[in-house]
Amino acid sequence: MPIAHNYLRTRVRLSHIVANYELLRGFGGHVLAVVKADAYGHGLVETAAALEAAGCDAFAIGSVAEGAALRDAGSRGAIVSLLGPVLPEDDVLALEKDVVPFIHDFDQLDRLARAAAKAGRKARVALKFDTGMARLGFTEKDVPHLLAHLGERPAIEPVMVSSHLATADDPTAFDYVSAQGGRFARICQALRHGGLTFEASLCNSAGILAHAGEFGFDARRAGIALYGVNPFQGTDREQLGVGLLPAMETTTRIVSVHDLPRGASISYGRTFIAERDMRVAIVAAGYADAYSRGLSNKGFMCLSGRRVPILGRVCMQLTAVDVSGLEPAPGDVIHLLGGDGPGAVTAADLALWWETIPYEVFCLFGLNPREFC
Ligand SMILES: *Cc1c(COP(=O)(O)O)cnc(C)c1O
Repeated sequence: MPIAHNYLRTRVRLSHIVANYELLRGFGGHVLAVVKADAYGHGLVETAAALEAAGCDAFAIGSVAEGAALRDAGSRGAIVSLLGPVLPEDDVLALEKDVVPFIHDFDQLDRLARAAAKAGRKARVALKFDTGMARLGFTEKDVPHLLAHLGERPAIEPVMVSSHLATADDPTAFDYVSAQGGRFARICQALRHGGLTFEASLCNSAGILAHAGEFGFDARRAGIALYGVNPFQGTDREQLGVGLLPAMETTTRIVSVHDLPRGASISYGRTFIAERDMRVAIVAAGYADAYSRGLSNKGFMCLSGRRVPILGRVCMQLTAVDVSGLEPAPGDVIHLLGGDGPGAVTAADLALWWETIPYEVFCLFGLNPREFC
């Protein structure tokens, strides 16, 4: 259910996601489209269908239930659940819907093996290794025990072995990528030596762009770059992500336009006082629409190709912007994300202003009513 009864519209250009997929595929390897969290707010079913039509045959989603939803929507590709089974019902669902879950510990493996035996099926899994995130996963020293454990559980069939990079997008921390990559290579070698056959997968978007030469392995998991964000923007490696196309824009409507005389304050708490006579527009967007209150006095919108600054606090459903020199009318469209010309607002801009990352901007803006083109 999107946020109801508001004027925000999040428009998703699926052709740009497909173009980004093609660009990332150019780096080689088997590219899994990461469509978890409703495709980072871009729409799980629509995004996956567009990619599948363009030849993508594998998707990474979040929970097993999200994978089941994608299967029910008609996807015939491989579906990998990055979160893996958390509750016993997830085991059953993964088997039923042919979702390959990430498995990060022995208890999870046992539980799934029992569910598979009960269902009379094989459970295909992706083994998750911790090589430096310290979040989830088996470790290098678990390998002998894991091989023995799998030997006793023929219902479990590992088809992928995976790990996740902590610093792939930070050019000052590429040595940590090398340490993780080296550890992952040793793990894969030991598992193959122990008789397993699988696709090895380490790289996320930044990994594909910067590290695929050395640590590309077999399968790569493309997330944020698929949605047009260059993970290296603002760094000395920016050229690595050139050519990615943003796919999301969000608009809303102007409610009212009025004068704000010099010396007057605007919005709650009087945090903005006009230093000159101004013309302000009151815009139908606020934190109830996932337009963060953190943008108060910091962010900008884009009106007719120009950046207009936010004045005072962002309210629940209203925000004021300075439109001096422009003459918008109530009902006019204004961009919260995107827009024409040099005034266009990017997800990276919003992330900077509200002290987050483009991932969160997409997930939140994607909660609004969406249109696809
Ligand atoms: C989200 C996620 C990705 C994708 O990362 P991006 O930085 O968006 O490319 C890859 N692997 C795992 C395990 C993830 O959770």
